[in-house]
Amino acid sequence: MLELRGVTVRFDSTRAVDGVDLDVPVGGVLAVLGPSGSGKSTLLRAVAGLEELAAGSVRYDGRDLARVPPHRRGFALMFQDGQLFPHQSVAGNVGYALRLRRTPARAVRARVAELLALVGLPGFEDRSTSGLSGGERQRVALARALAVDPRLLLLDEPLSALDRGLRERLARDLREILLAAGTTAVLVTHDHEEAFTVADRLALMRGGRLVQSGSLEEVWRSPLDAEAARFLGYATVLDHEAARRVLAAAGEPSSGGAERRVALRRSALRVVPGGPLRGRVRSARTTPDAVRLRVDVDGVGEVDAVAAPDEPVPPSGREVTLTVDLSRAARLGADRTRRPH
Ligand code: ADP
Repeated sequence: MLELRGVTVRFDSTRAVDGVDLDVPVGGVLAVLGPSGSGKSTLLRAVAGLEELAAGSVRYDGRDLARVPPHRRGFALMFQDGQLFPHQSVAGNVGYALRLRRTPARAVRARVAELLALVGLPGFEDRSTSGLSGGERQRVALARALAVDPRLLLLDEPLSALDRGLRERLARDLREILLAAGTTAVLVTHDHEEAFTVADRLALMRGGRLVQSGSLEEVWRSPLDAEAARFLGYATVLDHEAARRVLAAAGEPSSGGAERRVALRRSALRVVPGGPLRGRVRSARTTPDAVRLRVDVDGVGEVDAVAAPDEPVPPSGREVTLTVDLSRAARLGADRTRRPH
């Protein structure tokens, strides 16, 4: 497995990566999630051996890689823009590393065909890379990265340059491709949906530090703090009495005292007749999936809510009642995930 201990990278006086500890088991897919400038790419480059460590260690299968140059680590890297070789065909790109290793031509052809099938581009061998769409280019880049069976695949925002629909589809495919190939991978992204689609473990970075890590479920169910919750796509964080009211409405007595906080996704509160919370509609609009509202809820404040799409849109000022869907809510900082130290 990959083990990072106290990994620190400095650029002049700034610590771009500061004391990061992380483990990735063989076959695991870790997403490193954080805002721009939080040190994700620098961490990935440090694992690859492309940045010098100011402190700490990177180990794989128990071996310290400090003196192992990038090309001898058995890792592959894939970037946002794929970086395909422009004057080579698709097969030329995918088979590049195999030819460098003097693999016989027949074996290269067979492996290239297998990889192109894996990434959903069967028969693309002779295409020129200049004629490919953005999504196809990233699939070719992925096939090229997987060609030599890397023991670790490092993905730096591999889908960020694609438009939304394509990004979602390719994220699902990427997950399946990594599972099918049994590849151990670290994915760097600022997009929580991409992280949730592709990875099975999550590490949150902020200002060069690791602020939280754990299984998807652990991090998702109990973000460390309000900032982590917002970064994971929660729309609102409630404190104290407001949090207590929402939990009580869901039938959950609050246990942890006044500082308990609750994060809500936009669909955590639902307008239904006879619901335990009461409020007044501030605004509402219809979307294909639901009616989305802002509701001023008694004792809670103004929050997002949804109503079924076939309901008439309630006018502003209308009194409504609401229920709470706890699967769309999280308690902040609850127990099991790891904290910074
Ligand atoms: P992210 O990938 O999360 O956007 P980066 O790892 O690219 O973040 O950057 C982390 C910090 O390190 C930023 O403050 C960035 O400006 C700085 N940084 C990154 N690369 C270099 C470099 N080669 N030289 C100097 N500073 C750098």
